[in-house]
Amino acid sequence: MADALVIVGASYAGVQLAASARELGFEAPIVLLGDERHAPYQRPPLSKGLLSGKTAADQLALRGTDFYAQQGIDLRLGTRATGVDLLSQRVHLADGSELDYGWLAFATGARCRPLAVPGADLQGVHELRTLDDALAVQAALGRSRRACVIGGGFIGLEVAAALTTAGASVTVVEGQPRLLARSFPTLMSDYVADAHRARGVALELGRGVAALLGDAQGHVASVLLDDGRQLECDLVVLGIGVLPNVELAQAAGIACDGGILVDALGRTSAPNVLAAGDVANMALPTAAAPGRARMRLESIQAANDGARAAASVLVGQPQPLTAVPWFWSDQHELKFQMAGLPAPGDQTVLRGELADDRFTLFYLREGRVAAAHSVNRPAEHMLARKLIAQGAAIPPDVLAHPASDLKPFSIPRPAG
Ligand code: ADP
Repeated sequence: MADALVIVGASYAGVQLAASARELGFEAPIVLLGDERHAPYQRPPLSKGLLSGKTAADQLALRGTDFYAQQGIDLRLGTRATGVDLLSQRVHLADGSELDYGWLAFATGARCRPLAVPGADLQGVHELRTLDDALAVQAALGRSRRACVIGGGFIGLEVAAALTTAGASVTVVEGQPRLLARSFPTLMSDYVADAHRARGVALELGRGVAALLGDAQGHVASVLLDDGRQLECDLVVLGIGVLPNVELAQAAGIACDGGILVDALGRTSAPNVLAAGDVANMALPTAAAPGRARMRLESIQAANDGARAAASVLVGQPQPLTAVPWFWSDQHELKFQMAGLPAPGDQTVLRGELADDRFTLFYLREGRVAAAHSVNRPAEHMLARKLIAQGAAIPPDVLAHPASDLKPFSIPRPAG
């Protein structure tokens, strides 16, 4: 199988790459390696509906059961790649066998950042990345009354909302003085904090965790904060960010820097080796992300679009990714939808009222729409993606006026 495409990692990017390769007419064998025991599954419900009880584990399949066989995709579950030899174009597997490749793709994703404090290995302390993680939290939730979520990023806050819905009393501990500091400006962070508090979530902001303390049975009993206070709890969920799984690529000699470095086609520094998804530090198209040269984007859209771009390389019809980055987060009944990538110095313009839980915060860069964060405004989010792609120049007072029609600004102008 010297011409085979071997894909390491069977989540969104890996599955999409295999599917797009077939759609584009790639005819050589495709081997899709996944180290988990589950067939590829949807991840967003893991921190939302699965925990709150709205979604069942058997509703999560990413593709139908026949899909892989029908497409001639050799999906190998519970199979871990342990090494890659670029010269001989060979992948080593944990069971000692080897696979020759014509094309290799890394879709190895990311793993949870570990909490480096005493007690992090106590029973009742969970991370949340995989279906098995989520099932373990779900099982623990049945016995839990007081939960502590460490990390006030999107994952931590989604978990906090879902656990609250499931009936637990929840405290979020965030090391930064405000929530979602990596993604949001202070105005949005404060809005999110108020929204969670109003729905019963307690927040400890600007607080470090000194240790997790256990009971006599080795089960977590409290979180010791850096001010000496103890938060009693019987369940801890960690949501302190992720680390890209670059080790395999790095050991093979592929250029990595905060992820596997790839161009807008998903090509790495090595010939015939591609990467997509959470592990890829992608070159971004200027129109889609003004002012940002490259970034590792942790979103399903980036995984799918990066995989589609990489697949286009396989068939010799390169189609660099052009889409404006977007992602979403559901917390309580609030739907957050983010388009584009804000940058320091952007002018922010609010359209709608925070108090209504329905608004969009637009970001203007040199007078043009560069990003937009919406809450419960799905149509405005869709429009914002077009405005960003167009580089629409909209006067701030027009943007801020809730009745102004923004659609005309999204229509492409004829050249010249
Ligand atoms: P994700 O998108 O997976 O939620 P982020 O990196 O956006 O990841 O969010 C992780 C959050 O966890 C950040 O707000 C960060 O400040 C916070 N954090 C990281 N380490 C700690 C820690 N030891 N204690 C409390 N909060 C932490």
